Amino acid sequence: MIVGVQPLAGFDKLLHYQVPAALRAEIRTGSLVRIPLGHRQHLGLVMAVNAIADCAPEKLKPLTAVVHDYPALTADLIGLAKWMHTYYAARMESVLEAMIPGAVRDGARLKTEKYLSLVRELTTTEAAGLAKRAPQQARLCTFLTQQIGPVKKSLVLTRLGLTAAVVAALVKRGLVTEVARSVERVAYADNWTGGEVVNGLPPPLNREQSTVVDSVAASLSKEKFAVHLLHGVTGSGKTEVYLRAVEQVLAAGGSAIYLVPEVALTPQTVARLRGRFASAGHQTVVWHSHLGEGERLDGWTALASGAARVVVGARSAVFAPMRDLRLIVVDEEHEPAYKQDETPRYHGRDVAVYRAKLAGCVCLLGSATPSLESFANVQAGKYQLNVLTKRVDDKQLPDIHVVDMRIEVVRQRGLVTLSRLLVDHMHRRFERKEQIILFINRRGYSSSMQCRKCGHVEQCPHCSVAMTYHRADETLKCHLCGHARGAPAVCPACAAPDIRWRGLGTQRVEEAVRRVLPRARLERMDADTMAKKHLFRQILGDFRAGKIDVLIGTQMIGKGLDFPNVTLVGLVDADLSMHVPDFRANERTFQLLVQVAGRAGRGDRAGEVVVQSFTPKSEAIQFARHADYNGFAEVELAMRKKFNYPPYRHLIHHLFRGPNQEKIKFFAEHWVKQVEQELGGVVEIRGPAPAPIEKVKDEYRYQIWYFCARATTVVPALVRLQGAVKWPADVTQVLDVDPMSLV
Ligand code: ADP
Ligand code: ZN
Repeated sequence: MIVGVQPLAGFDKLLHYQVPAALRAEIRTGSLVRIPLGHRQHLGLVMAVNAIADCAPEKLKPLTAVVHDYPALTADLIGLAKWMHTYYAARMESVLEAMIPGAVRDGARLKTEKYLSLVRELTTTEAAGLAKRAPQQARLCTFLTQQIGPVKKSLVLTRLGLTAAVVAALVKRGLVTEVARSVERVAYADNWTGGEVVNGLPPPLNREQSTVVDSVAASLSKEKFAVHLLHGVTGSGKTEVYLRAVEQVLAAGGSAIYLVPEVALTPQTVARLRGRFASAGHQTVVWHSHLGEGERLDGWTALASGAARVVVGARSAVFAPMRDLRLIVVDEEHEPAYKQDETPRYHGRDVAVYRAKLAGCVCLLGSATPSLESFANVQAGKYQLNVLTKRVDDKQLPDIHVVDMRIEVVRQRGLVTLSRLLVDHMHRRFERKEQIILFINRRGYSSSMQCRKCGHVEQCPHCSVAMTYHRADETLKCHLCGHARGAPAVCPACAAPDIRWRGLGTQRVEEAVRRVLPRARLERMDADTMAKKHLFRQILGDFRAGKIDVLIGTQMIGKGLDFPNVTLVGLVDADLSMHVPDFRANERTFQLLVQVAGRAGRGDRAGEVVVQSFTPKSEAIQFARHADYNGFAEVELAMRKKFNYPPYRHLIHHLFRGPNQEKIKFFAEHWVKQVEQELGGVVEIRGPAPAPIEKVKDEYRYQIWYFCARATTVVPALVRLQGAVKWPADVTQVLDVDPMSLV
């Protein structure tokens, strides 16, 4: 028997090995194996069983071990790996490394211990029969009945004086399960639920929810590939729909993946799933980058071995080794956080849809502000649309007040952090002991230029994106097409002087709040806080428990969190996300406003939102104010169509970087000519142009954008063309397919 193995050893080539007779029974496609390579042992993945070797079979070396007795990659994951390798132009090894956690790849190194537990209690007749035919097995069953949880196998065997064969026999009968746990496992950090009261009993569905649940249930029972897009306003009870779908899958013996965009959202979701399914004996596995090695290994093992059938996690949980996958839920599917910004640069939602296709299962995407990509897929008839138009219990959506900061600046004579309206509302809510969230937009940065009198932002005449301000040479540049002009000294629209934009930091806002509400308990949550592993959980926990009155933070607190006592949300600088040089800027702003507003008034009291902006009449703000998603989507899609931007075409980003600016520029320009020659008919090229941040860590950066109808054909063509060029060692290139951010 010969197998094709992809080594995890730093190169992309399938190697062939003999399988020794003793290992043949265990080997499967997707098995993690040890292989001799050079003078060392490496890990590899079996990509093909009964492969045809490219040399005489007797010359092949035998592989040395099979690491687990179940495959590390299921058949659909292997298909997915191949697709990601081609679609995202990612090295096969990097894809496999993303799929199989480091702890598992090192799995052989981490010591594991087997634990036993009883699958179910025996009936009296069964017990009597077993006691007669196999007294030792009966003794083990009785012992396990008396235990509260799983017990260490080695301990049980010595204690009862039994052999492993007794356990094996019971496992075969399906009465006992054996689960491997790593010895160095850390306590489950995810037991933290943020103080949320979790109700195990499902609430009765309202009429809209029932319709959606039935529609998804119909797809699930067909056991075929289908994608549903659940568009439900904030607080409409989308989670309940996901839970019902998961419930149906578990009842049918299948398994489910539940993706959330942020690690910060996993505890809340895990608590909800455990609250619902733990009593039925289902283990919910948590999967994200903040886990310890031991926890990760345990979680992975539980899923791969079939002991657990539900996983909740951020992006990479889409690769969980599920058996009989029936459902993938992608909550907040519009979130750019689903896109990974390092190799392999995949989009978690898109990968989820593709995996569902390979596995022949249902993918359920949900959002209050669906991405225009997904919405266009609904219009094209590829996805089924389900809607929840009302908040649960007919709670009102919050009122959104838009403050015109141009007027505010004149009124208060100078740079304003908090408008009068916002301050008034803060006083009122604080006195009533209600909670406040102030939101600062960190997406934009000072490189866009906005007039503080009229709000004008200069756009590229060719690309419909904001121009980037370069302080060094006082120019405005479009980083899509390279169009440049001198930076204006006065506003081109209203001729006001001094149009430099200065953003607000979280700290500035904090100082302003302290002046306004000196007695309030404040907490800041930004990138610095997030860096500390448990701090964000603690802050969110304290906030939920009412120990904090005002929470100030960036995007992360705008996402999906459910705090019933928050009645006022302020968005301090709505403009910053709108005037970044990105064609998705409007979509981001709209999403941000609706999502942020969605944090207010989720409890019994009505909520309010104050949005501060220098361009209060802009479409994104106006549509968000009226919670009009369809109106927004229509206008925005028309704009995308006009410029032929995604979702109507794919976008690919190509970055060149290196220490020598001339060289980078030369190679980028030379390359563009080649692409034009070879692929001119199928791609539209913009650039090369200097990247918005031209120099990072002493490396100069140039970029090219390709627009194309089909990434599946263009990406491999680009890769082939790259292979035909001899590149100098100090020119590094990065291809990013379907990038979610242009800045
Ligand atoms: P969304 O995700 O749509 O913003 P959630 O799923 O967080 O909204 O639901 C908002 C709140 O409504 C949650 O506290 C949830 O428990 C509750 N809820 C959901 N469905 C129902 C229902 N049918 N009856 C009563 N409460 C519900
Ligand atoms: Zn341009």
